[in-house]
Amino acid sequence: MTDVWPLLEPVLSSVSKPARYIGLEDGAVVPLHAPHKVAWLLAYPDTYEIGLPNQGLQILYEILNDRDDAVAERAYAPWTDLEGVMRTRRIPLFSVDTHRSADAFDVIGFNLSAELTYTNLLNMIDLAGVPVRSVERREDHPLVVAGGHCTYNPEPIADFLDLVVLGDGEEVVSEINTVIGDWKRSGRTPGSRKGLLRELAGVEGVYVPSMYSVSYDGPRLISIEPRHPGVPERVEKRTVSDLADWPYPRRQLVPVTEVVHDRLNVEVFRGCTRGCRFCQAGMITRPVRERPFEQVRTMVAEGLRRTGYDEVALTSLSTADYSGIEGLVADIVRSTADGPPVSVSLPSLRVDAFGVGIATEIQRARRTGLTFAPEAGTWRMRQVINKLIRDEDLYGAVEAAFANGWRRMKLYFLTGLPSETDEDTLGIAELARNCVELGRSHTRSPSVTVSVGGFVPKPFTPFQWFGQNTVPELRRKIDLLRDATRRANGVQMKWHDPKATLIEGLMARGDRRLGPVIEEVWRSGGTFQEWSEKFDLELWTGTMARHGLDPDWYVHRHREVDELLPWDHLSAGLHKDFLWQDWRDALAEVGLPDCRWTPCYDCGACTGYSLEHIVASAVPPAGGSQGTGQDLSTGRWVPVGLRGSGSVPGPARLGI
Ligand code: SF4
Repeated sequence: MTDVWPLLEPVLSSVSKPARYIGLEDGAVVPLHAPHKVAWLLAYPDTYEIGLPNQGLQILYEILNDRDDAVAERAYAPWTDLEGVMRTRRIPLFSVDTHRSADAFDVIGFNLSAELTYTNLLNMIDLAGVPVRSVERREDHPLVVAGGHCTYNPEPIADFLDLVVLGDGEEVVSEINTVIGDWKRSGRTPGSRKGLLRELAGVEGVYVPSMYSVSYDGPRLISIEPRHPGVPERVEKRTVSDLADWPYPRRQLVPVTEVVHDRLNVEVFRGCTRGCRFCQAGMITRPVRERPFEQVRTMVAEGLRRTGYDEVALTSLSTADYSGIEGLVADIVRSTADGPPVSVSLPSLRVDAFGVGIATEIQRARRTGLTFAPEAGTWRMRQVINKLIRDEDLYGAVEAAFANGWRRMKLYFLTGLPSETDEDTLGIAELARNCVELGRSHTRSPSVTVSVGGFVPKPFTPFQWFGQNTVPELRRKIDLLRDATRRANGVQMKWHDPKATLIEGLMARGDRRLGPVIEEVWRSGGTFQEWSEKFDLELWTGTMARHGLDPDWYVHRHREVDELLPWDHLSAGLHKDFLWQDWRDALAEVGLPDCRWTPCYDCGACTGYSLEHIVASAVPPAGGSQGTGQDLSTGRWVPVGLRGSGSVPGPARLGI
């Protein structure tokens, strides 16, 4: 069966939100399949409303459909009600574009951006009619591929993936397509799947887990080695050198039902060099590549005209750092002044780069919500995490926002950070209270929402050696903050469930021994684990115990410098000794300047791949300027100085 619509249509009226499954978005394509074309099903392991806005998936969708030798469609995880019907009536996973069954594709490509979706990944593979373990797949089964930030440590799901792509997908997707296309056109002869995987393992940026053997000594990982000659010992990530070559998506999808981030999204740059030590996205996407001003302008104008959206988000990891951001926002405001009002949102704002200029420009358009992410409550803690924002930087940004008419804002924080004390935790409440007080001179009822997440150490960050806080410790800190904010007029508090943080931490730094645990949790019905109403901690911990694995060893243990980490055979370009030194500097509360505007300190992300930062304009951001760095004791921009390298004992001996 290829077309599942005749089976699907009659049941849609009996499930919630049937519009999730019908496709028909503006921007969607109905591709012409042909034997010589490689058919990709690009899948997101969560619901349509979470997955549709994913820009990575939309970019690959267009790039593949622009090729003569490829077609791409999309699939999202069916909610549990439809899944039940699908299993009863034997309806396989399908694309939303043409309702083609998933097993009629050559490749199922998943975007993995959250660890708690791993059981959904297995569920979708199974619904596709494909064996969940790669070793059981035959030549006529689709290849299961994954990309996205989680794949920088794909080891917990290594048994389920045929290949993994590290880094930017724009170029490598075509190279993979060519190899698979040749294999397909040669007839997919019996026994040839292994040869195909070996060939794919030779494509730069592609990791084929089955081509590596892993060994342990007791609980310790002691080796990860290629099984065959020609398979690289270390897989390097892919990086597109210039975003100007990739003005995608050109035809952003406009959903027919409500989704998150329902607006035009234009990526203004990729990469971040601020060096926040908790931030995996910032570390693994270096260097900074800004999109040319003119190209952003065109993408915004064309996108607004084509989609009819009245909001455009300029996306990146830190949008106010885009060189010339004020001019860009002013230009968008000016160019849309004659039409219906258009909101400009800058979803990732650093307070030290948000000034009166940007506030004024944004408020000329329609105002959207304002979110800042100071991440920690005290200057000491912000030095540890290298988010070198002074209290007065935050207050300046908040004052500018209230003065320009905003009434409410959100502040994001992490708790459970390395060396955090109760004073640091309570500093979050004090910052929020002070922000509300600042607002009182501009508005009668200022409101600040504090959102607190438990910190999860991630691979390829300086904190990859840190032992995550336990659930009781995170809960105690959240309770401390709840008490402190309850008494503060105008401050609301939201927090993430620490129990989910535990499992996220388990998956983030786990190894291949977690594969059977994930499979058993999935077989026991544990899907949609990132949804609080579906999350089931006891299911995870009970399964871990049955497999003789200790969550404490995986999650709460500090690692030592000489420990082999499960992702050490993969590379985001960053030198491990740079990350270790940065970890030691964190413990010594020593900051590190933004290398976009200061001399390179050779982390490896550019030097290893002969790349360099690309800035759109010679104008530095509000928070810094060329030829300067931050004075690490004051956080102010001054002539460059090297970071300190004080002699600090390792984390275990510090007792953090
Ligand atoms: S290689 Fe140098 S310039 Fe590039 S991100 Fe690392 S420190 Fe910065």
